[in-house]
Amino acid sequence: MTTNRIFTEYRDIIADFEDLLAGDFRRGREPEVPVRILLRPSAPPAFPAASADIGAAAAAAAGTAAPPPASGTPEERRLSLEELAAEVRSCSLCRLAEGRNRAVPGTGVPEPLVLVIGEGPGAEEDRQGLPFVGPAGRFLDKWLEAVGLSRDTNAFIANVVKCRPPGNRDPQPDESAACMPYLARQAEILRPRAVLAVGRIAAQNLLGTAQGIGALRGRVFSWRGIPLVATYHPSAVLRDPGLKRPVWEDLKKLKELLGGV
Ligand code: URA
Repeated sequence: MTTNRIFTEYRDIIADFEDLLAGDFRRGREPEVPVRILLRPSAPPAFPAASADIGAAAAAAAGTAAPPPASGTPEERRLSLEELAAEVRSCSLCRLAEGRNRAVPGTGVPEPLVLVIGEGPGAEEDRQGLPFVGPAGRFLDKWLEAVGLSRDTNAFIANVVKCRPPGNRDPQPDESAACMPYLARQAEILRPRAVLAVGRIAAQNLLGTAQGIGALRGRVFSWRGIPLVATYHPSAVLRDPGLKRPVWEDLKKLKELLGGV
C-alpha cells in the first residue's frame, strides 16, 4: 500500500466520523478526487479560458488587466511580501486601524497555486495577526486539504480588508477601497494560478458586482488576469451544513482549473 493510499484511507476514516457528527459533505456519495499535494511547476501552463464572466463593465470595475508576470526568486518574493506586510501593519488609511490589535496581512507560500481571499479578520485573527485561524479557518483548511492545498505548501491566504471590522460587521466600501491596493500588490507578487474567493464580501469586492454569492459561485471569472472561483464563506457553511455540497462542487472546479499540475 502506498503512503498516499494509507493517508487517503486514514483521512477517510476521520472524515466519516466527522460526517456522522456534522452531516454530509464532500465524502457523501461523491466519487473521490485523489488527494495529492500539488506543487507548482516552475513554468505554469496557460490558464484555461474563463468559462463565464460577469461582463466587460464589471470586469473593468474590478480592474482585471493582468499585472506583469511575477519576477524574482521565491526568496525575493518572500522579501517583497514581508515588506508589504510591514506596510500593512503600520497602515492607517482607514478607520479600521483605530480598533485593531493586529493587522492581518496574510500568510502562505511565496509561489502559491491558489490565493484564497476572505472578507476580513475576525476576533481570533485580530489577536494572532494571522488569517483564518478561528473555527472558520480550521474548516477552510479542511476544504483546502481535500483538494491537495495547504497554506504550508502551495497556497496563500489573505483578506479584502486587513484589519478587523468592529463586531465583525461587513467592511464598508471606503474601507475595502482603501485596502484593495494591498491585495492587488500581493496578487502581483504571488501570481497564483487561481484565486478562491470565500464569501459574498470577497467575491463582490473582487468582481465589482452586487450579485449575491449564490449567483456568483459555480462559475469561473477573471480577476487581474487570474481565474477566480467564488464559493460560500466557511462561517456560512458552519451555520448551514446544506451548503457543503455546493462548496464541494466549487472546490472541484478550482481543482479542474489547476488540472495538469
Ligand atoms: N473570516 C474571514 O473572512 N477572514 C479571516 O481571516 C477569518 C474569518
